[in-house]
Amino acid sequence: MTHTEGYARAGVLSTPHGDVETPAFMPVGTQGAVKGVTHRDLESAGADILLSNTYHLYLRPGDDLIARRGGLHRFIGWSKPILTDSGGYQVFSLAERRTIAEEGARFRSHLDGSEHMLTPEKAADIQAQLGSDISMVFDECLALPADTNAVRTSMERTLRWACRARDRFLAIAAGRVPEVVVSNPGQAQFGIVQGGTHLDLREESARRTVEIGFEAYAIGGLSVGEPPATMYDIVEHTTPFLPADRPRYLMGVGTPEDILEAVARGVDMFDCVLPTRNARNGQLFTRRGRINIKNTQYSEDDGPVDPDCGCYTCRTFSRAYLRHLYAVNEINAATLNTLHNLHFYLDTLRGIRESLKFGRFETFRNEFLQH
Ligand SMILES: [Zn+2]
Repeated sequence: MTHTEGYARAGVLSTPHGDVETPAFMPVGTQGAVKGVTHRDLESAGADILLSNTYHLYLRPGDDLIARRGGLHRFIGWSKPILTDSGGYQVFSLAERRTIAEEGARFRSHLDGSEHMLTPEKAADIQAQLGSDISMVFDECLALPADTNAVRTSMERTLRWACRARDRFLAIAAGRVPEVVVSNPGQAQFGIVQGGTHLDLREESARRTVEIGFEAYAIGGLSVGEPPATMYDIVEHTTPFLPADRPRYLMGVGTPEDILEAVARGVDMFDCVLPTRNARNGQLFTRRGRINIKNTQYSEDDGPVDPDCGCYTCRTFSRAYLRHLYAVNEINAATLNTLHNLHFYLDTLRGIRESLKFGRFETFRNEFLQH
């Protein structure tokens, strides 16, 4: 860490594909691309790290095929860092199409109904073949609300799975799993803290995950419908049990406000589909709140989406034009809206990092939340 203010921190995450300044936001490139925009757009918006989804890449085009292409970076033409999730979240979202046992999760593909098995070992193997810079452990994503016993049972299983995932990761790194192609020898593995909304279980999960020993740690199972105040509370009571010298990643979060509040509680990394998914639905984030570009009120509005934004969309096009593109279902609508929303998120994170360097984070946070 290079600067701190309260619990908030600025730092640098080093990976085989370069450094990432934190706090950082990772755009979601589900299928090896961020929907609607090119990698060049991402780079010019200031994205330093991309998230990609193991579940989707495993099914199509397959991790074997990607390994034969030299790994995910080379296959998709992105030379900066990549984090892959474990595939767990997507598998658990399949509901009736999957069964969970101690061994792992058996599921049917959402594409063709074919049967597959994802285990802690298999998730580590796939991510080694993809060659991401950061690999995530396979964890159980329990649907909330759940009673205390169910949350504890699930947390215990996640810990057993974490041990197995770590063993496999170390065996792969030591060259003891010859059937796995190692596409990126410098890959790191992050553990995941679970425990639902129970502060005592969160603390126990954090302590025991740290005991297993990973390069860094994530907080999972949040932003699944609980009130923001609950999420902030859990984050605040979890980060103190995670090593101060390692990045902390809050998975799947969130709104710009959520990110700011989590940074204030000691989190360093984020990913979320909100900026990209909402852009495709016409919802744009601005420094004065969100706007729905499809609304009639913008049909003759010659101003930019956000007068304080320096992105290509805001520098070049009017709200009236963007509304027209959306209304006629033009592909450009998704592209230009996504460019703006990603720029807004990445710019907000840039602002957070700058404010931390100058000891002005608290001021930045208050000003941001006032709008
Ligand atoms: Zn903009």
